[in-house]
Amino acid sequence: MSPVVDLIDRTRTGRPLTGQQIHTLVAGHLAGDVPDYQMSAWLMAVACQGLSTPETVALTEALAGRHRLRLATAVGRFVVDKHSTGGVGDTTTLALAPLLVAAGVPVAKMTGAGLGHAGGTVDKLAAIPGLRLPATRAEFLASLAGTGLALAGQTPDLAPGDGALYRLRDVTGTVAAVPLIAASIMSKKIAVGASALVLDVKTGPVAVLPDPHDTNRLARLMTDIGAGVGLPTTTVISDMSQPVGPAIGNALEVAAALTVLHGKHVPGLSDLVLTLATEAAAHAWPGRDPDTVRTDLLACLHNGQALSVLRNWVARHGGDPAVIDYPDRLPAAAQRLTVQADTDGWIAGIDAAALGRLARDLGAGRTRLDTPIDPAVGLRLHARVGDPVTAGQPLIELHLPTAPPAAPHTLANRACAAVTITDRPAPRPPLIHHILRPAATDHRTSRPPHSAGGVAPSETSSD
Ligand code: URA
Repeated sequence: MSPVVDLIDRTRTGRPLTGQQIHTLVAGHLAGDVPDYQMSAWLMAVACQGLSTPETVALTEALAGRHRLRLATAVGRFVVDKHSTGGVGDTTTLALAPLLVAAGVPVAKMTGAGLGHAGGTVDKLAAIPGLRLPATRAEFLASLAGTGLALAGQTPDLAPGDGALYRLRDVTGTVAAVPLIAASIMSKKIAVGASALVLDVKTGPVAVLPDPHDTNRLARLMTDIGAGVGLPTTTVISDMSQPVGPAIGNALEVAAALTVLHGKHVPGLSDLVLTLATEAAAHAWPGRDPDTVRTDLLACLHNGQALSVLRNWVARHGGDPAVIDYPDRLPAAAQRLTVQADTDGWIAGIDAAALGRLARDLGAGRTRLDTPIDPAVGLRLHARVGDPVTAGQPLIELHLPTAPPAAPHTLANRACAAVTITDRPAPRPPLIHHILRPAATDHRTSRPPHSAGGVAPSETSSD
């Protein structure tokens, strides 16, 4: 049996590989010595048999590669990174990042483009007229050093092993495997090399793994990988049974984030931003009382400091800073159409996937990486699950392109079909299901660390 076949066979039969064997596989694949068909066979063995946590940590390190940005060391400051597993109407980064910077916590994040029904931060930022994101690692680091905030698209040389593996996973039915997703996400975070990481793992029918049991395994594993590789990681499991915020579409989501930064309460979005910001700040200030941190963060929203950070950052990157105070300068749709409730009752469900697909079909998202985006189009939601409604009340406003992809009434019917109204009160889903924290930042439990080395995770249910 060839050495690679032996490794495939070991994983297929549930026998663990050493870290060195996993490194050999990944490096061999990148070098062209392990052909795609053998790597695909190994990926399928992992998808069926799983990997242990030490094996997953080794895979994550191997995928991250040697050429890392080492962000925290490069700028000589504590820097927080944030990642979401992909939500609809999820514009938290645009509010969270300036808020943390205003509070004194630098933030850096490399982000992928939106694909399918989920949006991407790069596309949202592109809705700000004139804005040009850092195109090189040097510009990214300069932006962080100059403003405390760095946001950029992911460079292809980041975690090249993951890029090569993901292309195979995409065509071999091995995307939806917990250890492979965990290693893929965490490899890119390790390659960036912030001081700490806050993960927002979505749960619900639209999530990357729809089964809540798998979501919990993914969250636990990524928290454990962070502990294993010295990247302290807090994982928030948040609800995705309806769109996160009140807007789906790029300019509309920028406007929603600006509303949060203007200190106004935006249902769903404001609370998630504050929760993630509080968790991120706990890494920067491990001894501080979380309630005091939350109060300080709220003050940064109300006194205009968070807005000021974003205004300066936008101006530095060539964008129109007036957009921050006058969101009506953002691109606007050619026509609008409002869908109303056809009966009295309570909102029992809002199908986030269906609305994400509708916004994408209007031009807000893409099915392929080269599809052009229309920043102006999308949807504005006027109700959330659990809200009472009366017949005729506006539910969803469609922001349509000049040439809509279908007759306006057909598009309105799609929006209407995504909302379920019942004749009895419907419960509001919890926004936050669970938080897994490294023990060093967890002041809400008195549990001892699980292990002596590294940062052991603990967990808190925050429903
Ligand atoms: N996001 C990633 O970066 N990788 C995966 O495998 C899934 C989601």
